Amino acid sequence: MSAFIITDLEYRYAKSSVPALQGININLDTGQCLGLIGPNGSGKSTLLSILSGLLTPTSGTVQFGHNDNLTLAKFVQKNVALVPQEYAFYPKLSVAQNLQYFVSLCGFSSNESQTRVEIVLRQCQLQQVSSQKAKFLSGGYKRRLNLAIALLKDPQILYLDEPTVGVDPISRGTILALLSTLKNQGKTIVYTSHLLTEVQDICDQIVMLNQGKAGYLSLNTAQKCLTIEFAQALSLAWLKQLSSLPLKIECEDNRVTANISSPEELLTMLALLSGSQLEILNMHYDQTSLTQYYLNHMENNDTSEH
Ligand code: ADP
Ligand code: MG
Repeated sequence: MSAFIITDLEYRYAKSSVPALQGININLDTGQCLGLIGPNGSGKSTLLSILSGLLTPTSGTVQFGHNDNLTLAKFVQKNVALVPQEYAFYPKLSVAQNLQYFVSLCGFSSNESQTRVEIVLRQCQLQQVSSQKAKFLSGGYKRRLNLAIALLKDPQILYLDEPTVGVDPISRGTILALLSTLKNQGKTIVYTSHLLTEVQDICDQIVMLNQGKAGYLSLNTAQKCLTIEFAQALSLAWLKQLSSLPLKIECEDNRVTANISSPEELLTMLALLSGSQLEILNMHYDQTSLTQYYLNHMENNDTSEH
């Protein structure tokens, strides 16, 4: 089932001569993760505001796939949460006080409220700072508090606007691991980021925004690439062995490049190498093609940062 379908969406801010978004079409299935990437000013936050019901499209539609009888506003209020780019908590209140305040807006019984606070404290690993004033938290903990507040209502659909910007590696790891867990629990996630590798790791679908227009990236074109440089040119016997693997492999002198589309394929390749006597000089495994695709796309569209 679709979590939402966006059709021919356009959004124009009042008095603005150019639309912030135009011709956007996205269909996201329930339980999937959509990565929205694009430079500053490309329309990512605007799109999340529309998906959160904070802005109304100038034209086009957003339809949520649900079969209860809720009105759109009620559905969004109950099931959708946005983790905004800005901090959305009270700096003078402690972490626990913030959570207690925001959970009181969710309409739970007092027992349920207490349980929800405990769950999000644990999920976002905020227990040890729960009595600290929010304004004294480090950047990473502030991001986690922002996320915890959004999770209080146990949303089915979660939007995150650049949740890892300015975040230390530990908090980033916590946030990304939590997103994976939420996805495994069947939540639908929309996630904006500048970090392509991060987006590719967790997302099922990637949309690149550029000056308000969308480029749709098939993840198949963004396979990982394994490049190995050997100490000597490969023998014919080895070339034969490599070409018998069910992978797309290119060999040139002492260098082998393989397109890898699953962890199993990587292991197959490594298993073959581990049985060989070949000396490896250099090995590189990365999602270069997505980065390359992104840069090419941006260059072709002559983007400037706003
Ligand atoms: P991103 O999140 O990708 O950085 P935004 O959605 O914030 O991009 O902005 C998209 C475009 O809309 C930009 O050109 C920005 O200047 C413009 N914009 C954003 N907010 C407003 C606003 N409140 N009023 C007018 N223009 C805005
Ligand atoms: Mg933004």
